[in-house]
Amino acid sequence: MQSFVLGEAGAAAPPADAAAGAAAEPELLYALPLFRKPAFPGFYHVIQVQDPEIMDYIVRLRSSEKGGYLAGFMTKEMPEGLADSPQSETAAPLLSLPPTPQTQQGEKKTRKDTGKVASSDALMEVGTKLQVVTVTLGKNQAPSQPGGSLVVMPMQRIRRVGTISNPVAGVPLCAVETVPLPVLEVPTDESETSIEIRALNHEMVATMKDLLKMQFVNKEQFEQVIKYYNLDDPLKLADLAAGMSSAPRQDLQEVLTCEDAAERLRKVLLILKKDLESTRLQSQFRSQIEDKFAKENKKFILMQQLRYIKRELNLEWDGKQSIITAFKESIKKLGNLVPEEAAKAMDQELSKLGNLEPQSAEFNVCRTYLEWLTALPWGKFSEDNTDIDRAERILNEDHYSLEDVKERILEHMAVSFLKGSVHGKIMCLVGPPGVGKTSIGKSIARAIDRQFFRFSVGGLHDVSEIRGHRRTYVGAMPGKIIQALKIRQVSNPVILVDEVDKLGRDFRGDPSSALLEVLDPEQNANFRDLYLDVPFDLSKVLFICTANVTDTIPGPLLDRMEIIRLAGYVYEEKLAIANQYLIPQTIASNGVAKDMLDLQPEALAELIRNYAREAGVRELRKLLEKITRKVALSMVRAEAAERKLAMISLENLRKFVGQPPHSTDRLFQDAVPSGVAMGLAWTALGGKTLVVEARGRVPASNARAAQGVSRVVQREEKIGLTGEEWPDRWKQVRRLLRCYSVILCMLLQRGLDNYCKKDDRIELLAV
Ligand code: ADP
Repeated sequence: MQSFVLGEAGAAAPPADAAAGAAAEPELLYALPLFRKPAFPGFYHVIQVQDPEIMDYIVRLRSSEKGGYLAGFMTKEMPEGLADSPQSETAAPLLSLPPTPQTQQGEKKTRKDTGKVASSDALMEVGTKLQVVTVTLGKNQAPSQPGGSLVVMPMQRIRRVGTISNPVAGVPLCAVETVPLPVLEVPTDESETSIEIRALNHEMVATMKDLLKMQFVNKEQFEQVIKYYNLDDPLKLADLAAGMSSAPRQDLQEVLTCEDAAERLRKVLLILKKDLESTRLQSQFRSQIEDKFAKENKKFILMQQLRYIKRELNLEWDGKQSIITAFKESIKKLGNLVPEEAAKAMDQELSKLGNLEPQSAEFNVCRTYLEWLTALPWGKFSEDNTDIDRAERILNEDHYSLEDVKERILEHMAVSFLKGSVHGKIMCLVGPPGVGKTSIGKSIARAIDRQFFRFSVGGLHDVSEIRGHRRTYVGAMPGKIIQALKIRQVSNPVILVDEVDKLGRDFRGDPSSALLEVLDPEQNANFRDLYLDVPFDLSKVLFICTANVTDTIPGPLLDRMEIIRLAGYVYEEKLAIANQYLIPQTIASNGVAKDMLDLQPEALAELIRNYAREAGVRELRKLLEKITRKVALSMVRAEAAERKLAMISLENLRKFVGQPPHSTDRLFQDAVPSGVAMGLAWTALGGKTLVVEARGRVPASNARAAQGVSRVVQREEKIGLTGEEWPDRWKQVRRLLRCYSVILCMLLQRGLDNYCKKDDRIELLAV
């Protein structure tokens, strides 16, 4: 047998047309392995070759005399790394006309349709004889591209009957002996098979038509090929359908191998039906995805169009113009009440706004700034009440006692009435909680007929809360004072700054200095908020501050304040406040009729003595509210006819307010024994009584020294402390030492011998 192994390039070539027609004599051909699918006869096939060795060998074969033919056999297995997906199998472009050498692949890496196999055993037995039409080297397209592509025309089906040689070095293809397989004929008689074939053919054509109506891979090529095809021959049509199909490679190989015409058509029809179904599913998914995508896209496109139309019709400009016109009108309304600098800033911003795109972020910043500028109450003042009597009546209506504050307000009114301005010191109401600091502030505003705004600076750290943010920040806002003016719409409200003694201070700045700038009558006529960046006159604003203690108010601020102290209330005052103010107020606020609740004097006295012992009356108010709420609930629960007066007496008081938190403050029920005196501790929350007992006599020399607290500390062993657990021992000790020194002085003045014996200890009792 002739060997086709090439020793030297071009030394030998396989006899190509050994016997196309003579079935007996096997033809010797080089076998080209096909990775993706078998080649079906009848239409051009593009085979992409990545392996440069195979490509070179084919070129050499072509240059030899009989190198125009190859035997195309599909490999039994798909090589590793090649996706066994229908997409990859159908990816081979099939052409109806002789193609021009190498289509526009450009620099793209060539597809791997063929490659080396170890031996001919790796190949299927049935294949196709391929006529090589064109060979295009990859390096002709791009120097770095290996391999190339072949355009082949599958001629006829062949069977491999023997192997001449397996691939060796220098010969990458197997040389095999092949015999042509019979060309299948369609019977023309009226036999059953023939009828069946015709029916199958019709069904196949119908399925292909359905398929062509849909979008599927290779549709274009399919349409192109079909134009040049003889559709009357069912077997040729079957070859075409199988060749174009995306069915699995094994199914296609079965079609190629099948010797029975009817069976073959049946197989192809099945493949076509599967293709149709999968194409249907694909298009269904595609349309679902497209729908989703289209919805989002549609909105975007419509918005673009709207914008375009608006621009075309000058509508956008109209929107912007109407904003500008609105601003112009509000600036006009403000008239010449606006200071020069602010008016200039407004004009500048307005012209800037005119040049900005309405969609730009800058436009919105500019617009918000103008909104603030034009919304402020420039030069707007509310008329003050000049009727002193009426003001006094209002103050008395709201609060009991607090004469100092009331008088100060009346003085303030008198001065501003005479002078026509309210320049002066800032008032600061200092006192324990619940003594009416905040509520008197509100009452002052009512008395002088001004708007009232309250804000607390307790725990405030950020200086921009008062002075505003710079406009460069995102979401910048003016400070609290400017916000208050915008809300109240007057330039002379009463602004109550609560809790000035609890101002914070950290890396974000010192709010006390900003507050000073706001409150100081010398500076606040030209207060410049960082956001507004134009001066605003705050001198007509009446600022009232509140604090619990003065110790923690920053010095410079305290200097400028006029401190009005509100001491706590004694029993009689609390009684009066409760009867005249709190009870009527709570009854009214809870919707209980006056004649439905009777709080007996003893019950009220008990409330004040044993339930609400604080300096102010807030706790008392809460208790009264609790009682009225409970009365309201019992009234609502009872039938209308059964409702009766709720009597709160000493006996049933606990039902309403529970156990008293305080028991007696008397340590000694009857007379105070000799050597015991009452001391008083003072705190921000009010006062505290301390019972101090002298339990010994300090020698005269030591007693004198003991006037200095430090010395007394040295003699601590002389002081005994009674009392169970000290919550904060040293704080208590300090307080007690102070009392000790007071008592010591007293005793010294009166003569120690009268009270205790020499070397006795002084015992301090804390209650
Ligand atoms: P503060 O600000 O000092 O903590 P508030 O102003 O909140 O106290 O007062 C607490 C409650 O006590 C308010 O309901 C107030 O009406 C009432 N109150 C305080 N002092 C008086 C008073 N002298 N006359 C009438 N009501 C008072």
